[in-house]
Amino acid sequence: MTLEGDEGEEAREIALVMIDKSGYFDLINSEQDPRVAYIGGSVYPNLPPRARDFASNLHYLFRSSVVLHEDAGDAEREVLSRWSSHCLDVATAYALGGPEGSPPAPPWLVDCDAALKNTLRERYPDVDEVSVSCSFERRLHAWSIPADKKIRISAVTREYLRTLNLIFWNAIQATAFGERAEFDYRGGWDAIRESRDRIGDAMLPYLASPYRRLDLSLFPVWRAASVDAYSMAVRWTMVQLTFMLAHEYAHILLHAGHVAGNRDLEKEADYFAYRVIASDSFPGKSNLVVDWPSIDWYFRMLAMQSSIGRLLNDCSADWQQDVIRRRGLEIHSMANFLGVRRGVLALDSLVSVTHVAALQHFVRDLGEDGVRGRVGDFLASRTKGG
Ligand SMILES: [Zn+2]
Repeated sequence: MTLEGDEGEEAREIALVMIDKSGYFDLINSEQDPRVAYIGGSVYPNLPPRARDFASNLHYLFRSSVVLHEDAGDAEREVLSRWSSHCLDVATAYALGGPEGSPPAPPWLVDCDAALKNTLRERYPDVDEVSVSCSFERRLHAWSIPADKKIRISAVTREYLRTLNLIFWNAIQATAFGERAEFDYRGGWDAIRESRDRIGDAMLPYLASPYRRLDLSLFPVWRAASVDAYSMAVRWTMVQLTFMLAHEYAHILLHAGHVAGNRDLEKEADYFAYRVIASDSFPGKSNLVVDWPSIDWYFRMLAMQSSIGRLLNDCSADWQQDVIRRRGLEIHSMANFLGVRRGVLALDSLVSVTHVAALQHFVRDLGEDGVRGRVGDFLASRTKGG
């Protein structure tokens, strides 16, 4: 199946169907794909559990590269539906051990890694010995094996971040910016409170997915409230991924031979990553004032993922997650160090921080039983048997 208008720039002009070329779009969007012919979607429900988990993760990854605008109608929904079935066919073929086994590294990883290597090469000539590859578990996660000079990142990390960023930017669009496209502070807070249950419910499954057998294939496909909201979500995702990978590069380039998990080393790796994002030689370097709140937001999501994990594993809740949260707050000393005006940074991140605080209150208000209940409901409504 081929999507209409997939010829280069043309695709980006179709505002109701947005195509994400940094994901697996090009890999899947091939009518000639030989893997698809012998499969057919009917095989999926009968896969053994491990293969179905894998197919479900891949299906989620593949279909995520097409995003609909909120104003999309039946015709666009039909496009997405056909796209999704095609993606399920290809995902199933991979899960059954298709000709190439796991899919290749997605473009976002190849591009992000090349940009990082270019930025670091002059100071660290052995940077090209480092290899980066994908894993396929369901969590926001990157890690390194310094002895082997290997970095691994879960492929869903990118799509989770993009989806969570999109839910977030949709909400900002809906609650904070009215017709005038200005932030209305007083009206904003009430609106945020009204919408936070919806946002919280939307995010919970993603943050709970490392701890329960949720079928990603059945997760909703989030629509974009606007092209701007979608663009911001993609941009923040790129900054967050660069930060994550740069942090792991630090462990390999600076910390080989050290014991992992040392707090000072973690801090040094974070500083290294902040510097990469802010460096003149990094092609993604852009407006720090706009981009830096995305790192704070990333750490807040990690903290929530961890809090929810403790709850679902029947431990007592740790809402503070001080260790993780402190890492996000380092941004303020880094802003000083790099000469970003703190006042501007604080003002601009006001909108995002307000939303995140509302979301944290939502999860906290739900309480331990509430969170378990909501995840249980989601499991019941979204998980096929077996
Ligand atoms: Zn680390």
